[in-house]
Amino acid sequence: MKKQNAGLGEKLWNLIFPARCLFCGKLVPPGEYVCEACRKERPQAPFLRRYSLPGAGAEGFSVFSAAAYEGGFRKTLYRFKFRGEKGLSKPLGKLLAETAGQTGQRFDGVTWVPMTKAKRRKRGYDQSELLARAAAKELGLSCLPLLEKVRETETQHQLPRRQRLSNVKSAYRAGQEAQGKALLLVDDIVTTGATLRECAKALAEAGAVRVMGLCAADCAAIRTEEEKSL
Ligand SMILES: [Zn+2]
Repeated sequence: MKKQNAGLGEKLWNLIFPARCLFCGKLVPPGEYVCEACRKERPQAPFLRRYSLPGAGAEGFSVFSAAAYEGGFRKTLYRFKFRGEKGLSKPLGKLLAETAGQTGQRFDGVTWVPMTKAKRRKRGYDQSELLARAAAKELGLSCLPLLEKVRETETQHQLPRRQRLSNVKSAYRAGQEAQGKALLLVDDIVTTGATLRECAKALAEAGAVRVMGLCAADCAAIRTEEEKSL
């Protein structure tokens, strides 16, 4: 009986908030998150950046992103981050899990790039934590609160490139539970990568054996209008 009620609840939910494509907003079947047209048009492989990181070996620190930060997807992320549409974490989590699956690597747990406690109180939620929790659920992994942001920083995109690294330096602290784990480090958008690198460094220093960045969107992967029309 309980199960039937849950089913009905879900049907009602889908009626009021039907599933929509994360990229163009078109209606999609319940549980889906990309329409057929967008799936065909999307690049087959995730966007990848590699950074050198002390202790990370020759491979360095990799950051995979599901999509470019542009068009309809950019609007979806704006609604998720600034308009309080927390429900978007579910389809976005599925997209992140799909991206993590494409890397072919195995992990012990998922964590995220946190905001300071003060900022979180002000916004009411931490969008990266919601993404990490949703992705972990899809991947069947634990979501672990391993990082803490210990001081407030300037908004990264308002700073000149050379100041971005020093702005986030030592702003994050990682807990002991990171020790011996291969971890997925989730954030919503990668801009310079300085914040992700600082978090990966803190996790590595706490004893994580491997850290891989996983983001919804990559700012540097934006294609120009000319390229799109080719
Ligand atoms: Zn679409």
